[in-house]
Amino acid sequence: MADIEKLRNAHLEEFEKTAHINSMEEYKRLYRRSIEAPDAFWGEQAKTYLSWDKIWDFVLRYDFEEARIEWFGGGVLNACHNCIDRHLELRKDKIAYHWVGDSPGETRSVTYSDLHARVCNLAAELKYRGVSKGDRVILYMPRVIELPVAMLACARIGAVHSVVFGGFSPKALANRISDCSARVVITVDSGFRSGKLLPYKTNVEKALEIASDVETVIIFDRTGQKKVLSSSRNIGWHEVNAAPDPPADVAPEPMNAEDPLFILYTSGPSGKPVGIVHTHGGYLLYAAMSSRIIFDLREDDVIWCTADFGWIMGHSLGVYGSLLNGQTSVIFEGVPWYPTYDRYWEIISKYKVSKFYTAPTVIRKLSRAGNDYLKKYDLSSLRLLGSAGEILDHESWEWFYRHVGYERCPIVDTYFQIETGGPVISPLPGISPLKPGSCSIPFFGTDPVILDDSGDEARYPNQRGVLCIREPWPGIARTVHGDHEQFISTYFTQIPGMFFTADEAMRDEDGNYRIIGRVDNVINVSGHRIGTKEIESILELHDQVIEAAAVGFPHPVKRQGIYAFVAIKDISAISDTLKNELISLVRQEIGPIATIDVIQWTTALPKTRSGKILRTVLEKIAAGKTEEIGNISGIADTSLIESLIKNHKPGDYT
Ligand code: AMP
Repeated sequence: MADIEKLRNAHLEEFEKTAHINSMEEYKRLYRRSIEAPDAFWGEQAKTYLSWDKIWDFVLRYDFEEARIEWFGGGVLNACHNCIDRHLELRKDKIAYHWVGDSPGETRSVTYSDLHARVCNLAAELKYRGVSKGDRVILYMPRVIELPVAMLACARIGAVHSVVFGGFSPKALANRISDCSARVVITVDSGFRSGKLLPYKTNVEKALEIASDVETVIIFDRTGQKKVLSSSRNIGWHEVNAAPDPPADVAPEPMNAEDPLFILYTSGPSGKPVGIVHTHGGYLLYAAMSSRIIFDLREDDVIWCTADFGWIMGHSLGVYGSLLNGQTSVIFEGVPWYPTYDRYWEIISKYKVSKFYTAPTVIRKLSRAGNDYLKKYDLSSLRLLGSAGEILDHESWEWFYRHVGYERCPIVDTYFQIETGGPVISPLPGISPLKPGSCSIPFFGTDPVILDDSGDEARYPNQRGVLCIREPWPGIARTVHGDHEQFISTYFTQIPGMFFTADEAMRDEDGNYRIIGRVDNVINVSGHRIGTKEIESILELHDQVIEAAAVGFPHPVKRQGIYAFVAIKDISAISDTLKNELISLVRQEIGPIATIDVIQWTTALPKTRSGKILRTVLEKIAAGKTEEIGNISGIADTSLIESLIKNHKPGDYT
């Protein structure tokens, strides 16, 4: 660490001179104001960052008991106007997106005025198809420029977009379509990943056998095979874009600040997809401001957020944060190791990416590939590195810092959830100390607190406890689509009067936060949240399975893998075929992100005398940390636990 301390000074000096917030005193002054005088603070920021058709009647009203939160009540604006139209005077020829395909050499770039034309054409088509303010539209697409175009076209006419990650199965897609009663789906014929075709349109067709109320499917011909045939339900994107030149003039719909902008589905402990709703005013302000300050955005930056658009940071930095600030971004369709491990480095050097934001899983995988791939490219355009979605371990942090950032780029390890709308705890470049594994300090408006088991505030540094947030910040979610009661019970009842993150965390002596992991039954696989209940109920559908318990365990690349204890009826039925059947069943129902890594067979699951599964014990067995189990003779059948310990096979990755 001594070395890093020295290097830190060099980077601090550069950012200290130039960063938007360039001293700890300045941060503290503004932070205090954001907490003590939120109306004045956020009112000023909202005028700086956004353009409004009508100024709000009040800045903030809330009641955490009822989970009612309103920001900028009475204010009117449009997200698409803020992202595109207002930039046209000064930035019409500026590149909004550089796009790089899965296959090397396939590239496109669109300017702000191109983006405007495409968005208006699609918005006109959606209107023509009867989509109006408040209607939900599902976007099931890979990383192509047409995805942000579709998001913005929805926002322009006041429709609510819901991006479903391409890694979800037809069944999971159907659940999401039905949950939000979408009547329009936008997709592609097929996607490309590592040179292979992914069956987007086929998945949509399968999903629509279940979710049959969909009236319109708009299909972008990604493969260029011209196989997209129009029918009464299907429309080819080329027909949309064959629309008039100059583009259709669709005026941005005036939206109330609290009208919903999008729904993003996540996994909750119950197993049912949970549709988190974000609204226009507060979300946009938070996305714009957190992006600008945390990434220290400059006019000539080229930002690359590798997150899929189906995740919150794909929305908050990749689309809204970037466009609201008039920036240029990169979209890459493929994976960093196809055809070779230098794809990311080639893209950074070609487009002179200055702000590079990715996930710890990717960093771990790339670091293992060795540094020869890196050395071939000039990465000197990089000024700042970012990481999100899971814990960035010490080793990966150092590799990222030294070998990608040339020991001169600060790393912002941002902590956020779909529910928080953007990073709520994050280092600020130039003023936060470089501490591997630490998400550093609260962002403006976030008042975090760590609570022990009795609900009391942590009294000493590095005390572990559950992380809650005291006051609403503008990016906080507003409800669970169609189930406000669930919103209340999941986030506001555990600790009355506070937002409950379901993450364990600690704060060091200098006030920097470190996230430890989820305290609910949710596994974070490569940054993707998967509810254990969801996996268990699918496994239990199989004839041979009596019951199942899925837990997370330490995985060398994904950080957490899925370990399933499966109690089966007939021990003689145990075979690789049965194991593969169960793994495929879960993949089919949820999607490839939910691939079980280890199955351990058993005849029963260990339970307390009152019948609750001993999850903590199973987690210790899965992690091979049996010495931490302690004495459980009073609460459970110890012989069963002994046999589970004996049969545990470490490193049995499927
Ligand atoms: P999601 O809502 O799917 O984006 O997942 C949010 C969860 O990811 C959080 O509740 C955390 O458990 C985890 N997470 C997000 N960012 C970080 C981070 N920087 N460090 C550690 N864990 C993180």
